[in-house]
Amino acid sequence: MTDTAERARAYIERRSIPEPNSGCWIWEGTFDETGNGNAIWERRGVYAHRIAYFGWYSDRDQTQDVFRKCGNTACVNPDHLVGGRKFTDLTGKKFGRLLVQAEVRKPPSKRIYWACLCDCGNTHTVRPDQLVSGEIVSCGCYMREAVARRETVHGHARRGSHSAEFEAWGALRERCNKPSSPEYKNYGGRGITVCQRWDESFQSFFDDVGRRPSPKHSLDRIDVNGNYEPGNVRWALYETQVNNKRNTVYFEPYGVRVPVSILARAVGMNRNTLKARLEHGFDLVSAIRGENYTNV
Ligand SMILES: [Zn+2]
Ligand SMILES: [Zn+2]
Repeated sequence: MTDTAERARAYIERRSIPEPNSGCWIWEGTFDETGNGNAIWERRGVYAHRIAYFGWYSDRDQTQDVFRKCGNTACVNPDHLVGGRKFTDLTGKKFGRLLVQAEVRKPPSKRIYWACLCDCGNTHTVRPDQLVSGEIVSCGCYMREAVARRETVHGHARRGSHSAEFEAWGALRERCNKPSSPEYKNYGGRGITVCQRWDESFQSFFDDVGRRPSPKHSLDRIDVNGNYEPGNVRWALYETQVNNKRNTVYFEPYGVRVPVSILARAVGMNRNTLKARLEHGFDLVSAIRGENYTNV
């Protein structure tokens, strides 16, 4: 018990009035919009109930939140005050594969998160509600394994021998998503993406694209600057692909060679419309606006 704690107790006792029925000590000073009593303590503005908590429980953790058992925000009776966390302490608890290790506060909101260790050895930071609700049960490894299991069931990824469709799916995801992949610069690095449906599930990809017609076929994008998504991908023979690449239309607006499809995507236009207008000799601005055509 310190002198400061003693002064705090005297301060609270002088400025509060006990209420006979509830046993609450009602703060005599002003209140803020939350209904908590305002006080000046050590030249700082603080809540009155925090001074009471410190006065009677100076040996406890003062960084915790302080709640009232009686529910009355005007009350400063130390017997009605409890310190604690807004979220129950989850340390040491296990949710699915995740073992909660420590509380983490993420700036700027200072929201509480929990740092967890997954059974697979990865660490993962999760919001408390996601843990308690069972929304998140692993670092992501559970979902990956579930996907892998499903693919095995459908006979596409047997141990050591992947189907051509599965290999194609793996390769396109690598080209687009993995910067360390040698081909990334020509795909992901140029903004070419895999649609979410395919990125998350081989089965969806397979449902959309179908079985490879023959070993001479490989996966081809119809618009070579378009994304991996339904409607833009087909199994094609090599010759078709070469031809398709040759058909790429380039345009040089300011001396920079840009494929028309990239231009079209950048301004949110249909590629063929833009291509047609440019081929008819319209300048870039008119071609994009689609009005007041002026032949160059
Ligand atoms: Zn009370
Ligand atoms: Zn894991």
